[in-house]
Amino acid sequence: MNKEIRHKMPSELLEEEAKEELTALAEEIKSHDIEYYEDNNPTVDDVYYDGLRRRFETLAGYFPRLPISIEVTQKVGSPPAAGFDKITHSERMLSLANAFDRKEVYEFSERVRRFLRLGPEITLELVAEPKIDGLSASIRYEKGQLVYGATRGDGTTGEDITKNLLTIDDIPKTLTKQAPNVLEVRGEVYMTKNAFEELNASQDASGKSKFSNPRNAAAGSLRQLDPSMTAARSLNFFAYSWGEVSPTKMETHFDFLNLLKKNGFVVNGLTEICSTVDQALLCHEKILNLREQLPYEIDGMVYKVNRLDWQNRMGSISRSPRWAIAHKFPAEQIETRLIQIDIQVGRTGVLTPVGRLKPVKVGGVIVSNVSLHNEDEIQRKDIRVGDRVVIQRAGDVIPQVVRVNQNARSRYSEKFVFPTKCPSCGNDTQRNEGEAARKCVAGLVCDAQAIERLRHFVSKNAMDIDGLGEKQIRSFWNKGWIQNPADIFRLARYRDELAKLSGWGWKSIENLFEAIENSRGIRFDRFIYSLGIPQVGQQTAKLLAENYIDIEHWQIAMVRCTQGDGAAWNLLINIDQIGESVGQDLLNFFNQQRNVDIVTDLAFELNIEVYEIRKTAQSKITGKTVVFTGTLVAMGRAEAKALAEKLGARVSSSISQKTDYLVVGEAAGSKAKKAEQLGVSILSEQEWMAMLDGETP
Ligand SMILES: [Zn+2]
Repeated sequence: MNKEIRHKMPSELLEEEAKEELTALAEEIKSHDIEYYEDNNPTVDDVYYDGLRRRFETLAGYFPRLPISIEVTQKVGSPPAAGFDKITHSERMLSLANAFDRKEVYEFSERVRRFLRLGPEITLELVAEPKIDGLSASIRYEKGQLVYGATRGDGTTGEDITKNLLTIDDIPKTLTKQAPNVLEVRGEVYMTKNAFEELNASQDASGKSKFSNPRNAAAGSLRQLDPSMTAARSLNFFAYSWGEVSPTKMETHFDFLNLLKKNGFVVNGLTEICSTVDQALLCHEKILNLREQLPYEIDGMVYKVNRLDWQNRMGSISRSPRWAIAHKFPAEQIETRLIQIDIQVGRTGVLTPVGRLKPVKVGGVIVSNVSLHNEDEIQRKDIRVGDRVVIQRAGDVIPQVVRVNQNARSRYSEKFVFPTKCPSCGNDTQRNEGEAARKCVAGLVCDAQAIERLRHFVSKNAMDIDGLGEKQIRSFWNKGWIQNPADIFRLARYRDELAKLSGWGWKSIENLFEAIENSRGIRFDRFIYSLGIPQVGQQTAKLLAENYIDIEHWQIAMVRCTQGDGAAWNLLINIDQIGESVGQDLLNFFNQQRNVDIVTDLAFELNIEVYEIRKTAQSKITGKTVVFTGTLVAMGRAEAKALAEKLGARVSSSISQKTDYLVVGEAAGSKAKKAEQLGVSILSEQEWMAMLDGETP
């Protein structure tokens, strides 16, 4: 496939492009998985692999309707290889989500706090530990005796490597002190740097091929069908987690690690409890500096929520627990020449500088474009055309410039001057206070913006109008036939003129008008998405549709927000996963009269359906509408809402005749009274919890 597509932001991709890319990504991830897990011989580095995964997840999230490879989303690792017996893990072995910079660690902590509804006064303790670059294993003990041990495999089923694990000194064969009846210890089998050097020296001496890194050596040594081969290799084990445990009396992750230590396991000595994110980040910095001196390889830090009751409440999402994150160390960096800087104008008028590079290989792929983000970035790094630049591919597959090699700069080079006129329409550009982006102020008068917006409007996941591609839109735009999205539905008035244009036969004209007519009936969430409001992708559009149900209610609510109606604004930003930043973009959109007119105009031309909630599960509350009010004690509002939705209920923020249950927490306001008047069932939080008891999402 065309690797260039990967440099595009998801919002710039058409669904077909995304589909093509997702398929290609899935193929590539699967092939690397096989190299890594089955052949123990990866051909790309972790940073590159993580980038692929992250890109995959971003796209899959952005285009939820596209079929995606279950193998890639659910599997961690690979199926057990032939030759080993299989062991089904009593609890799935998950892998961790990644953070690639400090900002993402802060975001992780914010997510945890929001989910658990922790006020700023409550300390969120994180346990920080180095992320060992080895091979995960799970070891089961019953009544203090080692019963079996397994590789992670695909997360559900692993290989029985009991005999091999028994050869590792760090793994106790019997437990003594306060060991739970059943205990599955999880950790990392690794090889020290010294043992790796020695092994390679002896491989070399005996004419065998060398291992490329300690992890491959550890994996190759552990997965020997003959355990005496494993015994001959020097392997170690760090315990860091557990699967099934019964009974469990521990309250924190750290206590549990201590219990493991008391039972003879080796727990990494650099493990620390951090009471703030900043402390965890200091830990990251400290250990990054220690990295070279450590006797084993690490590739980042792991932060875990210390309180186990909180871990349980948070649970996991697809392949990763919500309560932990791996903060990776920085990526591979390569130097190359910057040949040119182009400025692209996007749908919202943002001028994005793109660097054209002398193609170079980073982390296994050829990179020829680099996003330069915005003019400040160019200014700050003093990036000039002709410079030699150090680039890296961090978490994203989108590469970036780390710095300029000043020593290699030509004495004749000139500072890059960011254009103040739009390169597409020639109009003025503007930067708002506090914003990094320079935007073309011409709005829909700017060809680039208007065309990009119309293109988005008719795209597959939006209005899905066949026969209106970029070329047609550009041509109709130039003729002045289409200036606003709603003009598309009045295009019939140019039918005769259209027939005179070359390339338009009567059949293609028929088809076009049929496609336009057919698109008049549109799902509410798709309509919202089609407006192309910044940050409002398909997911967000769906959330808005679920909460406002139909166009009238939404439009009224949005206009109220622009008029400073605090209640309407609070409703909006308290929708789970929406928040202030998206709210602000919606506000900006509806603050422009032209946009309000466009929406009104479209509402007139279209038949926008009332949104229907998809049923997700069968439970006592499936299909019911629930309203929460007041402060909930047992769980936060977001968590209560997520649970109710998982059980198939619709959670609304206001009482109406459609409401089935009002759940009243502490310090509830006037909703109970209204519910009473409407005859809605009112439940206390305890009654609500009792009703859901036994229901599983
Ligand atoms: Zn412009």
